[in-house]
Order: sequence, then C-alpha cells, then structure tokens
Amino acid sequence: MLVHFGLGSNLGDRHALLQNARTALAKQLVEFRESPIYESTPLLGMDQPSYLNQVVCGTTTLEPLALLRLCQTLEEQAGRVRAEHWGARTLDIDVLSYGAQVLSLPELTVPHPELPNRAFVLLPFKHLTPDWVHPGTGQMLDELWAQWQACTAEPQPTQVSE
Ligand code: ATP
Ligand code: CA
Ligand code: CA
Repeated sequence: MLVHFGLGSNLGDRHALLQNARTALAKQLVEFRESPIYESTPLLGMDQPSYLNQVVCGTTTLEPLALLRLCQTLEEQAGRVRAEHWGARTLDIDVLSYGAQVLSLPELTVPHPELPNRAFVLLPFKHLTPDWVHPGTGQMLDELWAQWQACTAEPQPTQVSE
C-alpha cells in the first residue's frame, strides 16, 4: 500500500526533528521518498513560530491504525506536549493517505480531511507524487492546488530545501 505522511515542526531544532522523523519512517517503509522542505506561517495568523513542513511516502503492509500509532510514538519521542489544539509543537505527523482507501474511523480520517485546505501539505505532496488522485473526490493534486490558489489569499509556503 502506498502511504503518505505529513510532517510539521515549529519548536526546537526543526530541521533535526524532521530528520529524525524521516529516519524513523524510512525504516518502516519500502521505497521511502521525501519531498523538499517548505516553510510556512502558522494557520489562522496564530502567534507561533513558523513551521517546517514536508511530505514523505513509501509502501507498507502495516494497517492504518498501526501507522497512526507509529506517528504518535514518534511525536512523543520528539517531546511533543499537547497544550492547545493546533498549538506549537516539536513534531506533528499526520497520515495523509492510505492507498486508494477512504477511512472514517473515530480516531483516523484518511485522506486527511484538511488536505485540500493546506498549501503546506498540497505543495510538497504534489512535488513528491504529482499523479496522486484523491480517492474521495477523484481530484488530482494540480486541481486541488488550483482550487487552493483560487480560494485563498494566504501567503504560499516557501521551499527551503531541494
Ligand atoms: P489537524 O488534524 O487539523 O492537522 P493536529 O495535527 O494538530 O490537527 P493532533 O492533536 O495531532 O491534531 O491530533 C488530533 C487527533 O487527530 C489524533 O488524536 C488522531 O486520532 C486524529 N486523527 C484523525 N485523522 C488523522 C490522520 N489522518 N492523521 C493523524 N491523526 C488523525
Ligand atoms: Ca496536523
Ligand atoms: Ca496530528
């Protein structure tokens, strides 16, 4: 199953935190690949440091909930503290896709429901796998990106790595 993860960090040594997460995820995935890193300002103009974001992908036989637990374990290892929803964090890892499956479990929605609304996910996702199709809506990433650009006045994330 091809799976995508969205990584984000806006506290501490952000580059090192992403690097550790990539190393750990690469051990769990076959044909691991990573997007460039993008820098973006926090959602809703929240007063927080800026984020580094990245999307990684690979294939796995692990079940969706096992992937969610893996994300949560890596977040804990990165010292994430859950103070407020959407608060600043050392590391956030979301499950963005699980093959062509659409999942709606109490603790896991896949594809990630905010995917179409977030430039910091769409841009690296598109960079990594331009041919990916959203299994829920049938839209391609280029369409989702065009939609985001048409509907949003927010600044676009900047690419900060190759
Ligand atoms: P957002 O989900 O809007 O990006 P967040 O990442 O800050 O916000 P968290 O506090 O990290 O939110 O996670 C809240 C809950 O979201 C988790 O406990 C988890 O069960 C649930 N969740 C639902 N779908 C997903 C998904 N696709 N990936 C990761 N967590 C998910
Ligand atoms: Ca998130
Ligand atoms: Ca999360």
